[in-house]
Amino acid sequence: MANKKEIPYKIYLEEKELPTSWYNMRADMKTKPAPLIHPGTLQPLKFEDMQPIFCDELIKQELNNDDQFIPIPKEIMDFYRMYRPSPLIHAEFLEKALDTPAKIYYKFEGNNTSGSHKLNSAIAQAYYAKKQGLKGVTTETGAGQWGTALSMACAFFGLDCKVYMVKVSYEQKPFRREVMRTYGASVTPSPSMETAIGRKINEEHPGTTGSLGCAISEAVEVATSTPGYRYELGSVLNQVLLHQSVIGMETKAACDKYGIVPDIIIGCAGGGSNLGGLISPFMGEKLRGEADYRIIAVEPASCPSFTRGKFVYDFCDTGKVCPMAKMYTLGHDFIPSANHAGGLRYHGMSPVLSQLYHDGYMEAVSVEQTSVFAAAQLFARTEGILPAPESSHAIRVAIDEALKCKDKGEEKTIIFGLTGTGYFDMTAYQKYNDGEMSDYIPSDEDLEKGFASIPKVDL
Ligand SMILES: *Cc1c(COP(=O)(O)O)cnc(C)c1O
Repeated sequence: MANKKEIPYKIYLEEKELPTSWYNMRADMKTKPAPLIHPGTLQPLKFEDMQPIFCDELIKQELNNDDQFIPIPKEIMDFYRMYRPSPLIHAEFLEKALDTPAKIYYKFEGNNTSGSHKLNSAIAQAYYAKKQGLKGVTTETGAGQWGTALSMACAFFGLDCKVYMVKVSYEQKPFRREVMRTYGASVTPSPSMETAIGRKINEEHPGTTGSLGCAISEAVEVATSTPGYRYELGSVLNQVLLHQSVIGMETKAACDKYGIVPDIIIGCAGGGSNLGGLISPFMGEKLRGEADYRIIAVEPASCPSFTRGKFVYDFCDTGKVCPMAKMYTLGHDFIPSANHAGGLRYHGMSPVLSQLYHDGYMEAVSVEQTSVFAAAQLFARTEGILPAPESSHAIRVAIDEALKCKDKGEEKTIIFGLTGTGYFDMTAYQKYNDGEMSDYIPSDEDLEKGFASIPKVDL
């Protein structure tokens, strides 16, 4: 136990205190996440099955349920040093505004040009592609953070980067696109007419604003049909959670250094990578029976994979070119309503987090977008940082929990993940500021349409 030291507003670890390995939660899970399966044979995917899609080293990480720690290669550590450690910040000013006895801390991952935590995995994925001697990679991007992160990472290692960007974001966020192009990536709105699957989706859903699921199908098609290319994904996969464990390892080290013990850990959940990363060392302790924490995933009410989805095998993408994963899903045909402004548009969820949720190791709540933006506004006005709408889902629930502490007079310690900044989300903020933002909660009937697309496999 560390001595109680005066806790600074911002806790920065020193370079020598930075984690040098990623932590693999799966090693400590009694029930391992279900494997990805081949949609034709329904057999677990083997290394060779994934080789046409992913880089070799990343497949090994994807399949590795055994090693607790995986050393971070020096080249990746070098890049991490450019923008890490990220600070763990004591939200004094938010606490004061809420007049709560709770202690609130947030781990801020927005201090890099991509504006989010996604760079932590992008640099790892680009590194392994380079090491394998590839020419380039393809990917999808929704809100644009992942595409930006991968563009930066590819520029660093001299790789080509082809980004398929969900059409609604491509149109709403032209500046995101230009950041990616500045780093040398090519950016195509999805669904496009350049791929077979894009043409099919356009034909079946004329005027569609796209979805992550569509964009993934396009990027995979291009990767598997272009020599020297592989596909890289910014969330959901086991390997991505592994890379993002750097967030949690730093958070835990900062907590241990100052004797901070969280009662509640909160993160927003799109595909689950930041949350999976933030909680990993804490969840490890919980899985090994060494400590207990309340862990809360926060998702939008308009795309409620955990809280209203089904825990079944489903396709990871709309075009069904990807393998199937056992996860909480709304069905691969589910497309969130176009008025949904807050990112986190993915129909599925990380298989690791899905298993942990299913086994009762964590909770999930859904929140409506106007309440999310109200939380974002309060946070910006008190703590100064203009948060990403995605991150603001976590802020919302951190505030709600802090207010419960106020009602009950409890001095709990809350840590949440502030995954990024919202400078490119001004169309959404404008809607909120103009009072034109609405909440859309899909009806059970709406969800049934998505569920109908879930393949009937009995596994
Ligand atoms: C992508 C993104 C998310 C959601 O993705 P996860 O994989 O669930 O972490 C959250 N916040 C920001 C800022 C993002 O860019």
